[in-house]
Amino acid sequence: MKSSDGNACDLVINNARIFDGSTVLQAAHNVGIAGDRIRSISTSPIAGSRQIDARGRFLMPGLIDCHVHLLNMWTAKDEATMAADIETELPKRLNDFLTAGVTTVKSVGDSEDDILHVRARLASGELAGPRLQVTGPLFCAPGSHPATTICAQNPWLRYRTTIESDSPEQAREAVQRLADKKVDAIKIAHQGGCKHGSPYFFKVESMGLNVQIVKLEKVVLGAIVDEAHRHGLKVTVHTVDADAAIEALEAGADGLEHGVMEERLKDNQVVDLLLRNRASYVPTLCLIRLEEKTAEVRYANLKQVADAGVRVALGTDSFCGFGKFGENTIEEAERSAQAGIGLSQVLRMATKDAAQHLGLEDLGVVAPGKIADLLLLDGDPTTSIGGLRKLSMVIQNGTVVVDMGIQL
Ligand SMILES: [Zn+2]
Repeated sequence: MKSSDGNACDLVINNARIFDGSTVLQAAHNVGIAGDRIRSISTSPIAGSRQIDARGRFLMPGLIDCHVHLLNMWTAKDEATMAADIETELPKRLNDFLTAGVTTVKSVGDSEDDILHVRARLASGELAGPRLQVTGPLFCAPGSHPATTICAQNPWLRYRTTIESDSPEQAREAVQRLADKKVDAIKIAHQGGCKHGSPYFFKVESMGLNVQIVKLEKVVLGAIVDEAHRHGLKVTVHTVDADAAIEALEAGADGLEHGVMEERLKDNQVVDLLLRNRASYVPTLCLIRLEEKTAEVRYANLKQVADAGVRVALGTDSFCGFGKFGENTIEEAERSAQAGIGLSQVLRMATKDAAQHLGLEDLGVVAPGKIADLLLLDGDPTTSIGGLRKLSMVIQNGTVVVDMGIQL
């Protein structure tokens, strides 16, 4: 959508109350959009070919979910079944994100070439859905999560979704390969016992999983992070306990997925390292549905980390068969509020801070010059997080992609 003349905007949203990614603006404003960008924000009238009166409504940046698995890891057993999922089921899941107001997602572990292809089709507009960042497969120790847990019965997927690494050289080569394929970031799973220590079991009763696994060796962990940084790629690391989180952050990690949820943080070591690295904490509170008993610890650790000033980026760990994509993202925001995080900060975690975690500084804020990914809500999410469920319009790249048909 191009502006027809140099001055008029393509779309103007008038009289909206605005959460700009950090705070609620004083008074209602008009927002002018030209092409895929926000051109101006003003209390004065803005010239534009399409005018929408949003009096009484709320405008905010599109939601960003930093932790999803987009492709179906249960039904994809070979090329044909994967292709069938992508052709027939994936478009519905992508639409579920948009109709929930999620305009950007990050895949942190999906079949390598398939997810890269999906990213290209989304970027070209061939597929409708959220903007997609991908890590491709994820690095883990040989015989560890998710290679021998989620992928235990599916060797085809295992070798496309995981890179089981036991040597620094092999790990560096794999990072180079992914960098050449232009992944957006690198993901590592660092969970398990030490090679010569006491046994550690990956246990999720609700999924019938109980598998002995080991962590990556430190020298391999360090090599992956170093090589990724040499290629300008951020590294985010799946952890569940404080020791692994500390090892990952000491190696230079830029983010923790899940963070610490097996134990309460005893001291400030994890927090201090997160701050030192300017790393993000991605809580994935939706997983509480699988492990109710971890709720208290997850909530308390998140509150401690957030209160210390660490950047928290919203992420759900949504995968096929686990709730509904998009709906989970809103549940994650609700659970963050339940953890005691203030509502403006919850919204910032899902917009500005998520965008910074992804390295997408042009997203997640309502400001002139930024990409126009915007939600129009019938409720005020800064006073009740349920306002996120009262969606009336979704704008992506300056174009209305969801219109709930409410008379505007
Ligand atoms: Zn995950």
